[in-house]
Amino acid sequence: MVTPDDQALAGDLARTILDVPDFPKPGIRFKDLTPVLHDAALFLRTTTALAAAFREARVSHVLGIESRGFIFGAPVAQAMGAAFVPLRKPGKLPRDRVTERYELEYGTDALEVHRDAIGAGARALIIDDVLATGGTAAAAIRLAERCGATVVGVGVVIDLSFLPWRDRLQGRMITSLVSF
Ligand code: AMP
Repeated sequence: MVTPDDQALAGDLARTILDVPDFPKPGIRFKDLTPVLHDAALFLRTTTALAAAFREARVSHVLGIESRGFIFGAPVAQAMGAAFVPLRKPGKLPRDRVTERYELEYGTDALEVHRDAIGAGARALIIDDVLATGGTAAAAIRLAERCGATVVGVGVVIDLSFLPWRDRLQGRMITSLVSF
């Protein structure tokens, strides 16, 4: 159910997030969320709303995707009383790790997690800033499931509704605070 508070938050986010054309390459319209972080009250409403959307899901671990998923994921974990687990780009984690590769438009990328970070029986919530093609979130789900977690859903600040993320995340609970 969409409440008036949700609508007000979506409107405030839409007014605050900046569009940067042709960044980081021609044809990409980059969503710059840094102005949300500069507004303490709006930043708090954003992470509180993401936590509230999964209040009933008995989340034990919040998994933030490098790097903007860390900014939003860590406060969500604290609000939920859950562990925060960074899902990192290759070569950043120092100890034994699990790696999941995924396709990009050109080439591949990967996410990694420390092998001991998510135990069997974990109930994982994945947090990122933007859902575009859904490839990154789908890789995060596969990684968490390979570690034995149940993935309760994916929470993002923005979804780009003209891109096919729904196809990649079918059957998953997705919460996005504002659609473009
Ligand atoms: P995707 O895997 O295509 O869903 O892309 C999602 C990842 O790429 C997220 O981690 C976002 O931070 C980043 N991303 C994709 N498109 C945009 C965009 N238009 N503006 C900002 N970040 C984006």
